[in-house]
Amino acid sequence: METAGKCNICKEVYTKRSVEVDEGEVVYVCEDCIETAKDNFIWICMCCGKTYIRPKGLVIARIKDLEIKRAYMLCEDMQIIQGIDMCVACSPERILDIMEAQYEAVEC
Ligand SMILES: [Zn+2]
Ligand SMILES: [Zn+2]
Repeated sequence: METAGKCNICKEVYTKRSVEVDEGEVVYVCEDCIETAKDNFIWICMCCGKTYIRPKGLVIARIKDLEIKRAYMLCEDMQIIQGIDMCVACSPERILDIMEAQYEAVEC
């Protein structure tokens, strides 16, 4: 049986499309947001549900570590939606660590 849910990214559209962002964590993503994911990296906070959308070029340009940068450049043509445990709204002082950790966690 197919289930539908409200898109977790824009929180406006009901969709049957879903992606696994983390082990066992599934989020709904509508067609528009899948399109957005082609040009942007999308992070979704698994704690409060807030989403962060950043242009891929900008993210890659800001990465200083060459290894990580290369990993991200390999991902440039993929649609990437990643779950993060908490975001700046949940835990402002920890967010930098988490973003760093996310960069390192990227595998294609
Ligand atoms: Zn959407
Ligand atoms: Zn959050």
